[in-house]
Amino acid sequence: MELTPRIIRNIVAALKRTQPNEIDCGDCFDRLERFAEMTLAGKAAGKALPLVQLHLEGCRDCGEEFEALLDVLRGLGGQEKTRSITAT
Ligand SMILES: [Zn+2]
Repeated sequence: MELTPRIIRNIVAALKRTQPNEIDCGDCFDRLERFAEMTLAGKAAGKALPLVQLHLEGCRDCGEEFEALLDVLRGLGGQEKTRSITAT
């Protein structure tokens, strides 16, 4: 196959369409529970799942979903005491 400028442009256009640095609401939702669990556990969720963090900052719907999820998880974890952190 010969790589003509036209083909290359098409490839570049396809790559841009997939937007590897961004996720949509569906992808965000798929990872939201893990993100919320990490947040509640005091882990750096934003570092582990930077794309979710990014999406939450720009999407109010998912932001509200995240807050609601945090409330649910807090309720569920009520009986299970937060593990004491030994490391400083
Ligand atoms: Zn969203």
